[in-house]
Formats: sequence, structure tokens, C-alpha cells
Amino acid sequence: MREPLGVRFDIEVAIAGGGPAGAACALVLARLGRQVALFERSVEPRARPGETLPPDARIVLEELGLWQRFEKDGPLPSYSIEAYWGSAIAASTDFIASPYGCGFHVDRARFESMLLDAAVASGAQVHCGVRVLGAREESSGASIRFDDGRTLSARFVVDAGGRASSLLGRRRRHDRMVGVSLCLAATADPLLLVEAVEDGWWYSAPLPQGALIAVLMTDADLLPPALSRGDWLAARLACAPATGARTRGARPMAPLRITSAASSRLERPVGISTAAAGDAAAAYDPLAGTGILSALRDGGALAHAIDEALGSGGALLAAYGARIEQRFDTYLRQRRFYYARERRFATSPFWNRRADPRFDSADTGLQGPR
Ligand SMILES: Cc1cc2nc3c(=O)[nH]c(=O)nc-3n(C[C@H](O)[C@H](O)[C@H](O)COP(=O)(O)OP(=O)(O)OC[C@H]3O[C@@H](n4cnc5c(N)ncnc54)[C@H](O)[C@@H]3O)c2cc1C
Repeated sequence: MREPLGVRFDIEVAIAGGGPAGAACALVLARLGRQVALFERSVEPRARPGETLPPDARIVLEELGLWQRFEKDGPLPSYSIEAYWGSAIAASTDFIASPYGCGFHVDRARFESMLLDAAVASGAQVHCGVRVLGAREESSGASIRFDDGRTLSARFVVDAGGRASSLLGRRRRHDRMVGVSLCLAATADPLLLVEAVEDGWWYSAPLPQGALIAVLMTDADLLPPALSRGDWLAARLACAPATGARTRGARPMAPLRITSAASSRLERPVGISTAAAGDAAAAYDPLAGTGILSALRDGGALAHAIDEALGSGGALLAAYGARIEQRFDTYLRQRRFYYARERRFATSPFWNRRADPRFDSADTGLQGPR
């Protein structure tokens, strides 16, 4: 169903990245009648640490016309979050109070396949196994460059390449957080468990395919050398009372994986004929738990803004850019409050640096081209 990179074609919008943001943007643009092509570097959607959608994801999935497909894919219901944060006594958030019902633990590869298939069914071209190396604005429209040296012109280019992408310019990193994840053979209750520990915090959740994922969120500079990471993580797990109890005796199903979870933002998320969506525009601490939802929302909102900009307007695009910037500023302030609520590990570097008022504005480096 997904096409190989064709020889040439006239498209209006080119999208780099086939995660939730890129797929939602392609889907909505195609439904608006725009010629859109999406380029995803992976041949198949990648496996990811287990991820959870909050109850209000239902609204966005319904708006995108995907709710029934999503339900049919068999996501695992998530009824509550239990958090050991600032206290050794758990605080529970029960989704029973949500008007939208429960949240869901999703199989990311399956979820992304569903989104891309829906984009194709709506008329978007989806090219997998194609890496975009660069993007730039031209005197009229924009162009993208592929890793095989070919270039493609379009009226508008979207960067939806995720947290590390800097196709549209430089991004500001605000920390060096990483997630160290373990996939374990264990059946677990459908609880999403969050537990603050000395080196950061754990989250653990069941996966729809019948496993348990446990991820330690910490800072990259606090990791030991690669060879000793397995033992280090096992020792950290043993020191986490709730997560340790949940995972005790469970056999690892795959080697541990390290994923960047750094908060970062593109310096200029919107240009004249280019814009970024999802994590490529602004990436948040996974503690926020809304990355997928924001990516779907951004993708859809950007599609409407591009449709207007390709007509005669531009107001929606400017509003979209302002919203991304404002949301990130609000997020930085909220992040500070969340981390300040945990005081049990004040002397550990992970918590100590987050208590420093300069942490919000800390710019740990610029990535990408000028
Ligand atoms: C450890 C961890 C746990 C998380 N847990 C949750 C959770 O429970 N719930 C939640 O809502 N969010 C969670 N998130 C956040 C969530 O994963 C992201 O916010 C979400 O995936 C963003 O979607 P996106 O489409 O913007 O980017 P991505 O999902 O990263 O998609 C980007 C896509 O672009 C492709 N790509 C990248 N560069 C190129 C290129 N040059 N050319 C072509 N293709 C390219 C990639 O292969 C990828 O498919 C978590 C994040 C981390 C790190």
C-alpha cells in the first residue's frame, strides 16, 4: 500500500516523518484535497518504549475519524495512574472521573501503522524507508533533500521528524534526560505506575502484547559506562520499592534501550513555507504524558493552517506558531512545579539540578544548522 519513492510528482506539501504528528498532518491535508507526500525514514514503524494515551485522546481520534479503527486494534485500557512522587505513599488518579472514559496503553508500531494506513486511504502518498536530509525555503515554496541526493520542490514543507530533528534550523535543548527501558515478560495489572527515586523516576506499564515495560528516566551524564548499564539498572530497580516489587523475577525480553527524552524546542517553529509539528516543534518531558496527543493535535492544526496559507491567508499559521511557543514556555514553568514537589532526594544530582531556578532557562546546547 505504501509506495516506493516515485520518479517525480507534483505535490503541494512534503512532510518529513511518519510518527503521529506527520501522519495526522498528511491525513487532514489529504482530506482537505491537498496533494501531500510523507517521507518516513524507517521501513516499518519502530518498536518504542510502551506508551499510554490519556482519556481525552478519544476526542482527537474522533475528530480525525480514527476512533473506530483505534478501538478495533485492541489497545489495553488504562484505568488509573499511581504515583509515588514526593511521598512513599501512593497518590492515585482514577480515570473513572473522566467524561471520556479510560486511557489506553498502545502498541506504538501498530498505532503508527494504523495512522499511516488511514493517511494513505485518505489520498496521501506515504513513502517509507526514505530519509530527508535537509529542508529549505525557496523564493517560491520550499524544497527537501533526500539521502540519495535527490531533491523535491513543494509549496510547503513540514518537519515532523521528532525530538532530535533540526531540518528547519536550530533547536534549543533544555536538559539531557534519557529513558532507559526494559521490556519484561510479566503480566501486570493495567496500572500506570510512576515512582520517583534517587536517580530520576520510573514509569512502568503493561503492553498490549502481554509484557511489562519499565523505564528509568534519568540524565544522560548520570549513566554509567555502557558495559555496566545492565547491572546498574538492576540495582536501581531493586531500590525502587513499588516498581521493584512489580518487576521482581520478570525475565527481560530484549536488551535495554536508551532513548532521548530531552525537552527541546525549535528556535523558529514556523517559517513562510515551512513549519514543524509534534516533537520536532517542541518536545516535552514524558512526565507530561501527552506527547502523542499533542503530536496528533499539532499535525491536524498545522494541516488546516497550511491549507489556509496555500489559499490566500496566513493568520492560522502565525497563530499556530505563537501557540507552540507559548505552550512550551508554560510547560517549562509547570515542569519546575512538578519537580519541586519531590524533596526526598534533594542531594542527588538529578533532583538537585532541577531545584535550581536556572534549570528552566538552561540551554544545554544548540543542535542543527544555523
Ligand atoms: C521514554 C519516553 C516515553 C514516552 N511516553 C509517552 C507516553 O506514555 N504517552 C505519550 O503521549 N507520549 C509519550 N512520550 C512522547 C511521545 O513518544 C512523543 O511525544 C511522540 O512520539 C511525538 O510524535 P511525533 O510524531 O512528533 O514524533 P515521533 O513519534 O518521534 O515521529 C517522528 C518520525 O519521524 C521519522 N524521522 C525522523 N527523522 C527523519 C528524517 N530525517 N527523514 C524521514 N523521517 C524521519 C522517525 O523515524 C519517526 O517515525 C514518551 C517519550 C519518551 C522518550
